[in-house]
Amino acid sequence: MSAYANAKALGRDAVLDKIAALDLYESGVYREKMTDHIAKAKAAAEEEGVQLDVVAALNNADTDMVYLQLLREVPEKVLEGCAIAALAAGAQKAVLTVPEKEGELAASLREKAEELGVEVVCEFINIRKNQTNLLVHLASCADLADAFADSYEPGICVSINGEPLKKVPADAKVSDVVDLTGAKAVQVGYAYYTPEECSATVGELNPANGVIRVLTDKNCIVDDAAKKTLACKAQSCGKCVFCREGLIQLEFMQNEVTQGRGKMEFLDLTSEIGEAMCYSTPCSMGQQSAKISLSAMSKFAGEYEAHIKKKNCPAGVCQAFVMIYIDPTACTGCGDCMDVCPKDCIEGKPKFIHMIDEFECDRCGKCVEACEEECIHITTGKVPKLPDRLTKVGKFKKRR
Ligand code: SF4
Ligand code: SF4
Ligand code: SF4
Repeated sequence: MSAYANAKALGRDAVLDKIAALDLYESGVYREKMTDHIAKAKAAAEEEGVQLDVVAALNNADTDMVYLQLLREVPEKVLEGCAIAALAAGAQKAVLTVPEKEGELAASLREKAEELGVEVVCEFINIRKNQTNLLVHLASCADLADAFADSYEPGICVSINGEPLKKVPADAKVSDVVDLTGAKAVQVGYAYYTPEECSATVGELNPANGVIRVLTDKNCIVDDAAKKTLACKAQSCGKCVFCREGLIQLEFMQNEVTQGRGKMEFLDLTSEIGEAMCYSTPCSMGQQSAKISLSAMSKFAGEYEAHIKKKNCPAGVCQAFVMIYIDPTACTGCGDCMDVCPKDCIEGKPKFIHMIDEFECDRCGKCVEACEEECIHITTGKVPKLPDRLTKVGKFKKRR
């Protein structure tokens, strides 16, 4: 029998008992015991005197969408879990919601969904409209299906450093499930942590979007946070002022810092805006997206200061701080670099020291690869004195 058929045969009370006995948790941002999660939604619907529906979805804040792997790889499981959640809650309707851009995925699910009485829609979750519904995470649906197929393994489903999803124990230390060699930060869910903080358990830090990812000296926290904030800004529905305007401001400040135009006052402003977003927005997007900036700035303030005060990106990632130059004492004037430059921003002629126009160059690195003399350097450190006009090979030193 299928998991759903098993659950149906047991009946609602026994289903709830089994969920309690297995100590199932709601996954994602609203992590809590599944029985409490169901009870709260039922109470809210009863208080308002409205019908209770089950809505299975990702959290709105989820821009990485690693949990969509579940819908792609084990769609039956997620759909059955959605139907089981409806059975457990005594809901009238079960709806599975996939992100707006996943129309094809939604279409592929409809036949099986219909058999289970689950409606499939493609939209962003309107949290206000769903206040009296039971929101269930897709990963929780998979757990529910496993529970009633007697194949449930306790734990939290995560993708570590981009690997496929796997279960890790909720009470394991983060430092025990991920290799911290060379780590300067670890992204767990929607926040950055120091390696020392990774002595907390997976359950405590809660990788709500399924992501655990190590950042090393080669990763720039500011650049990383800026990109994540931009993704959140693009995904926000924009209906709430604090989320809409807050994300515009946070993304602007992060971006200014990566571009070398950051100001120290941005640190305080980020705290103010981020905290206001956490308290004043109704859904996970406003709350969790703020944590990206808040955790990055509060725990890795040194990196922000390096960008703002020293005009340096310690990881060498932010292009505004990366310089490229041709060593005038080593260039033979062969012209190979000019031939490959897609921006046409290298000046020179045969037997003359070549020069790069810093403003036009996009640091693609093609000239570096082309130069057999290995005299083109990309650096975040000091640049030596360079010729200011075309100079014959071998003459540069004499002129100084
Ligand atoms: S918090 Fe953001 S994403 Fe959520 S409803 Fe408000 S504007 Fe939309
Ligand atoms: S390829 Fe190297 S050696 Fe040749 S002109 Fe360019 S910088 Fe100079
Ligand atoms: S890094 Fe790319 S754009 Fe810049 S000078 Fe070299 S080839 Fe041209």
